[in-house]
Amino acid sequence: MPEGDTILRAARRIRPVLEGTVPDEIRTPQPRHGPDRWPQRLAGRRVTSVDSYGKHLFLRFEGDLTLHSHLRMHGAWAVYPRGARWRRSPRRAWLVVRAGGAEVVEFDGPVLELMTESRTRFDQRLRALGPDLLADDFDPDAFLARLRADDQTRGIGDALLDQRNVAGIGNIWKAEGCWGARVDPWRRVADVSDAEAVAIVADARPRMLAAAGVPAEEGAAAEPTARHVYKRAGMPCPRCGATIRARGQGEDNRTTYWCPGCQR
Ligand SMILES: [Zn+2]
Repeated sequence: MPEGDTILRAARRIRPVLEGTVPDEIRTPQPRHGPDRWPQRLAGRRVTSVDSYGKHLFLRFEGDLTLHSHLRMHGAWAVYPRGARWRRSPRRAWLVVRAGGAEVVEFDGPVLELMTESRTRFDQRLRALGPDLLADDFDPDAFLARLRADDQTRGIGDALLDQRNVAGIGNIWKAEGCWGARVDPWRRVADVSDAEAVAIVADARPRMLAAAGVPAEEGAAAEPTARHVYKRAGMPCPRCGATIRARGQGEDNRTTYWCPGCQR
């Protein structure tokens, strides 16, 4: 599943193509969106901004209209020079926005909707999101407040995937952040200190920003996007040599990877 870093990277690629421009053409090839008449409703409108929040991406148009997307498990955003061959079948394109010499394409996007700007502010799903881990003004205290209001008997790994606690983390960076902070993802939230919880997101944040292509600050890790435990079950932990384990966790049974040797 694309995580916040993937969405931020997409926003950073799409922004220079679309922001401030009136697209030459907008198409919604998916038959489901045919009756919505988005190309007609968006015709002639300038894109005022392209931004991400957690795993959500927003194309905002003048005149109070916003395209909201969430990729779920298999969706993807891509930017191609016009005429270039796409990496996925055109049949899987849900949205094509052409501007200048480029095409912005959303593939396999199950959540794609045109909303008014005010509705994005009052939408229950969007309002429920916790602080965006990759936002410039990410506030660890806001994350802690959400985490402490959550069920304290949950495993911390499970709680980190809940976008109401912190928006943007998915299965990869949950596992890697817990490893970085030496916290066992199975430990109950009640038994994780505030400092430990903040250490997990503080470890994941710069790595995710690096994966999103945001220039690193000084003193950043040499290989910020390296994986230490994710999909490395049965292999030795790069820190302590113990064998990395994997097991499904939480309501959705997402596979959690951890090192029993150095994560407590
Ligand atoms: Zn270890």
